[in-house]
Amino acid sequence: MDRILLAANLTLATQLHVGSGDDSPLCDAMIYRRPDSALIIPGSSVAGALRGRATRLFSSLRGEKKCLSLSGITDRECDCPTCAMFGNIYPDAGSSNNRLSAKILVHDMEIQLADGTSIRDGVGINRVSRTSNSAAAAKYDYETVARGAQLVLRMEATGLTDKEEVLLAALLAEIGEGRIRFGGKSSRGLGRVSLDNVAAWRLPQCTPAQWTQFYALLTSDDWFLQGGQEIANWFSRRLEEARRLFAGSDDTFLIISGTLRFKEGFLTKESFLTVESPYDSFPLLVTERGKRRTCLPGSSLRGVLRFQTERIGRTLAELNNLAGWLVACDPLAAGESEPGRSCSRRPDKKNGNECLACKLFGSMHAGSRLKISDAWEIEAGKFYLQDYLAVDRFTGGGSEGKKFDSVYTYRPSYYIEILFEEPEAWELGWLLLTCGT
Ligand SMILES: [Zn+2]
Ligand SMILES: [Zn+2]
Repeated sequence: MDRILLAANLTLATQLHVGSGDDSPLCDAMIYRRPDSALIIPGSSVAGALRGRATRLFSSLRGEKKCLSLSGITDRECDCPTCAMFGNIYPDAGSSNNRLSAKILVHDMEIQLADGTSIRDGVGINRVSRTSNSAAAAKYDYETVARGAQLVLRMEATGLTDKEEVLLAALLAEIGEGRIRFGGKSSRGLGRVSLDNVAAWRLPQCTPAQWTQFYALLTSDDWFLQGGQEIANWFSRRLEEARRLFAGSDDTFLIISGTLRFKEGFLTKESFLTVESPYDSFPLLVTERGKRRTCLPGSSLRGVLRFQTERIGRTLAELNNLAGWLVACDPLAAGESEPGRSCSRRPDKKNGNECLACKLFGSMHAGSRLKISDAWEIEAGKFYLQDYLAVDRFTGGGSEGKKFDSVYTYRPSYYIEILFEEPEAWELGWLLLTCGT
């Protein structure tokens, strides 16, 4: 049977977090490590990310079948191209003996660090008061891999048809476009990679004697390179075919990218650096090619965007004599009979019952199609220190012991990238209304 091997070189464009489920005295969520301490993204997790995108991409291509998982049918075997490549989505459904197993095997993806790992903190922000959600003890920290790390994606594909090779090349190209992200917290800004290079090898159709030779090779780490014959320009040729075959398909997405320039000072507080520094608040710094730079976390950008979008939504609802919570639920409303009860606290966890804001930005039960990357510094702002003095409202004088100082960056600019998969008209209008304000 025909077997090809593929290797893609990726570079991290944002930070990456791959949860191991372990905590340590240092941090709540450590990165996944193999017993030999190599940092990896498990193959199953990489395959999951690829499959997720394939399901939407292939289904939207002209002449391709839609995956049953998109229409919620679970009692039949699916014969869509995604299920053919990655294995049937419902392996126990149907009665056929001819069940599809995966044609693609994805290896663990090793991470070659550029600047080590760091610990970042996430603070749950109360969407109504915009202060940290200490009532819910929503503070946690997690380990991340620095931007610039190199990753190698390796996969083996067995018995692919010509058409499937074309689809696979189209899928790999999606990585470079930022529509496939790896690891956790991807909708909050992490796990964006660039695609540097894709190489392919075909395993020769061997005679039994040559097979023995080949099996001996399998023990070496680079059997990919030694055992196969490189297929020249596999990626560019297959991608070219994909463009010809599927031009004009109806997969929609919106990318908003560009420069965000601050006109005033900008402050992000990072707990660890603040503890180290003599100040009460110190900005988040990330290391990039040996240099420390400030960063505007995707999660912060998302929080601000959500706050403003909900505010516009509530105003529009009230103008039309509707309750604001129909548009955006109240994260503090927990009681069963309270109107506007938080979608994250509702007992029925089924998709589709959320308020409009949770449909757009996600809730505890449902992800979001809106992915906002960490924004990377283009122009560094000058650091400056600002003193604050809390004023005692009773005497009008300075409040004893209430003086604090913060380190700001003055007029920095950042590159932002917002990706929105399959937006609906109302979502686009709402979001663009927010971006314009
Ligand atoms: Zn399917
Ligand atoms: Zn909601």
